[in-house]
Amino acid sequence: MSFVTRFAPSPTGYLHLGHALSALTAFDAAREAGGRFILRIEDIDQGRARPEFEAAIFEDLAWLGLEWEKPVRRQSEHMADYEAALRQLSERNLVYRCFRTRKEIADAIASAPHEAQEAFRGEALPPSEEDEKLAAGEPFAWRLSLKKARAALGPAYFALVFEDETGLVRAEPERHGDVILARKDFPTSYHLASVWDDALQGVTHVIRGEDLRDAAHLHVLLQKLLGLPQPVYRHHRLVLGEDGKRLAKRDQAATLRVLREAGKTPDDVRAMLANAPSP
Ligand code: GLU
Repeated sequence: MSFVTRFAPSPTGYLHLGHALSALTAFDAAREAGGRFILRIEDIDQGRARPEFEAAIFEDLAWLGLEWEKPVRRQSEHMADYEAALRQLSERNLVYRCFRTRKEIADAIASAPHEAQEAFRGEALPPSEEDEKLAAGEPFAWRLSLKKARAALGPAYFALVFEDETGLVRAEPERHGDVILARKDFPTSYHLASVWDDALQGVTHVIRGEDLRDAAHLHVLLQKLLGLPQPVYRHHRLVLGEDGKRLAKRDQAATLRVLREAGKTPDDVRAMLANAPSP
């Protein structure tokens, strides 16, 4: 069986120990399986992504001893792909326009997929009301309709399962509600782009942190609706900083570049990860 996995960081800050654990876990798994390791740059959030962070990702990962296939896929260069995927869903009436406040929509689309979104349920407005809002130029988001997805898939919706390190899990897309897949002026969200690219790049094993465990419940539904193959999921533990708090991009002390400048070696990083506390 082939084994293809990936590390998919967003260049919105410097990589820290948590990212190192994700990258090393995926890279080591690929090595062990005699498989392939892909690095993908998830920079759809062009308001926050910065070229210097992308350059730092390459530098930090190379220093850690990782090797990846070239060229690296940069999501911002493939927006048309995600737009086409969204169109597939909208042509089948599986998404609807949701006109909520600009701020709610902007918050929900941010490429940081770790924050739980409100499990929203809704439906399309009556056509006359929708036309009025469109004519007035009101912003909107495209939401996946779980109701329509259920109707489209029938019994297959309830039979959706995926494999992770705990065994076979029944998918519960309801955890996410009607998730935002795109917005008026922005053709994709993390969920849609990530699922699309995993399939396009032939990823067989998605390896990422515990904090994204819930995402699989939605991703397998998107795969089913879009006719994409389903990968196996593996979630690794999260690591906390020395202060016992979750690492965030703003925690400079735990960034790989600060550790490197302080004279740490890649082996030191592996040792720190092995000893780091978990939540
Ligand atoms: N770009 C996402 C992140 O920053 C990747 C999540 C994933 O691996 O699917 O965490």
